Amino acid sequence: MSENNPPSGSSTRGSCEICGRLSDVETSFTKYGWPDDDRPLPPEAGRLVPAEPTSGYDAERDHVRRCPICGTYYHYRWSYEYLVNGSEDEEVLRRITPEEAESLLARRGDGP
Ligand SMILES: [Zn+2]
Repeated sequence: MSENNPPSGSSTRGSCEICGRLSDVETSFTKYGWPDDDRPLPPEAGRLVPAEPTSGYDAERDHVRRCPICGTYYHYRWSYEYLVNGSEDEEVLRRITPEEAESLLARRGDGP
Protein backbone atom coordinates (compact mmCIF):
# COMPACT_ATOMS: atom_id res chain seq x y z
CA MET A 1 0.00 0.00 0.00
CA SER A 2 0.97 3.63 0.01
CA GLU A 3 3.85 4.62 2.23
CA ASN A 4 2.99 8.26 1.76
CA ASN A 5 3.28 9.86 5.15
CA PRO A 6 3.17 13.63 4.94
CA PRO A 7 4.32 15.56 7.98
CA SER A 8 1.38 17.01 9.88
CA GLY A 9 2.79 19.52 12.30
CA SER A 10 5.06 18.83 15.20
CA SER A 11 4.35 15.83 17.32
CA THR A 12 5.98 14.04 20.19
CA ARG A 13 3.90 10.93 19.99
CA GLY A 14 6.67 9.03 18.27
CA SER A 15 8.31 8.80 21.66
CA CYS A 16 5.25 7.31 23.31
CA GLU A 17 5.04 3.55 23.22
CA ILE A 18 1.25 3.66 23.03
CA CYS A 19 0.51 6.60 20.75
CA GLY A 20 3.39 5.79 18.47
CA ARG A 21 1.58 2.61 17.54
CA LEU A 22 -1.86 4.11 17.07
CA SER A 23 -2.97 5.84 13.92
CA ASP A 24 -5.00 9.04 14.03
CA VAL A 25 -8.06 6.90 13.49
CA GLU A 26 -8.30 3.25 14.46
CA THR A 27 -11.35 1.14 13.79
CA SER A 28 -12.40 -2.34 14.74
CA PHE A 29 -15.04 -4.54 13.29
CA THR A 30 -16.50 -7.69 14.77
CA LYS A 31 -19.24 -9.76 13.27
CA TYR A 32 -20.68 -12.48 15.40
CA GLY A 33 -20.16 -15.85 13.81
CA TRP A 34 -17.65 -14.58 11.26
CA PRO A 35 -14.31 -14.59 13.13
CA ASP A 36 -12.34 -14.48 9.90
CA ASP A 37 -13.65 -10.98 9.29
CA ASP A 38 -12.77 -9.72 12.75
CA ARG A 39 -10.53 -6.72 12.87
CA PRO A 40 -9.79 -5.76 16.48
CA LEU A 41 -8.32 -2.51 17.71
CA PRO A 42 -4.57 -2.62 18.31
CA PRO A 43 -3.66 -3.91 21.80
CA GLU A 44 -2.29 -0.45 22.62
CA ALA A 45 -5.84 0.91 22.47
CA GLY A 46 -6.63 -1.18 25.53
CA ARG A 47 -3.97 0.65 27.52
CA LEU A 48 -5.73 3.99 27.20
CA VAL A 49 -7.65 5.02 30.28
CA PRO A 50 -11.08 6.67 30.35
CA ALA A 51 -10.94 10.40 30.98
CA GLU A 52 -14.50 10.49 32.26
CA PRO A 53 -16.93 8.06 33.90
CA THR A 54 -17.94 5.33 31.50
CA SER A 55 -20.79 3.90 33.51
CA GLY A 56 -24.14 4.27 31.83
CA TYR A 57 -25.47 3.30 28.49
CA ASP A 58 -24.38 6.33 26.47
CA ALA A 59 -21.08 6.90 28.24
CA GLU A 60 -20.00 3.34 27.67
CA ARG A 61 -20.38 3.71 23.93
CA ASP A 62 -19.11 7.22 23.50
CA HIS A 63 -16.44 8.70 25.73
CA VAL A 64 -13.04 10.29 25.92
CA ARG A 65 -9.96 8.23 26.67
CA ARG A 66 -6.50 9.37 27.53
CA CYS A 67 -3.02 8.00 27.14
CA PRO A 68 -1.58 7.30 30.62
CA ILE A 69 1.95 8.02 29.38
CA CYS A 70 1.78 11.24 27.38
CA GLY A 71 -1.77 12.47 28.02
CA THR A 72 -2.97 12.44 24.42
CA TYR A 73 -6.76 12.37 24.15
CA TYR A 74 -8.83 9.99 22.07
CA HIS A 75 -12.52 9.86 21.30
CA TYR A 76 -13.85 6.34 21.58
CA ARG A 77 -17.15 5.36 19.99
CA TRP A 78 -18.71 1.96 19.87
CA SER A 79 -21.67 1.02 17.75
CA TYR A 80 -23.57 -2.20 17.84
CA GLU A 81 -26.03 -3.40 15.32
CA TYR A 82 -28.21 -6.40 15.78
CA LEU A 83 -28.68 -8.33 12.58
CA VAL A 84 -30.56 -11.51 11.87
CA ASN A 85 -27.50 -13.29 10.53
CA GLY A 86 -25.15 -12.09 13.28
CA SER A 87 -24.67 -8.87 15.12
CA GLU A 88 -21.99 -6.38 14.19
CA ASP A 89 -19.73 -4.42 16.49
CA GLU A 90 -17.79 -1.45 15.34
CA GLU A 91 -15.40 0.69 17.33
CA VAL A 92 -13.80 3.95 16.29
CA LEU A 93 -10.89 5.43 18.18
CA ARG A 94 -9.90 8.87 16.98
CA ARG A 95 -7.07 11.04 18.22
CA ILE A 96 -8.40 14.44 19.25
CA THR A 97 -6.94 17.71 20.44
CA PRO A 98 -7.14 18.80 24.09
CA GLU A 99 -9.68 21.42 22.98
CA GLU A 100 -11.92 18.79 21.45
CA ALA A 101 -11.57 16.66 24.56
CA GLU A 102 -12.52 19.59 26.75
CA SER A 103 -15.70 20.30 24.84
CA LEU A 104 -16.64 16.63 24.80
CA LEU A 105 -16.06 16.34 28.53
CA ALA A 106 -17.99 19.54 29.19
CA ARG A 107 -20.93 18.36 27.15
CA ARG A 108 -21.19 15.20 29.21
CA GLY A 109 -21.52 17.29 32.35
CA ASP A 110 -24.47 19.09 30.81
CA GLY A 111 -26.69 16.05 30.91
CA PRO A 112 -30.25 16.04 32.14
ZN1 LIG B 1 0.81 8.45 24.44
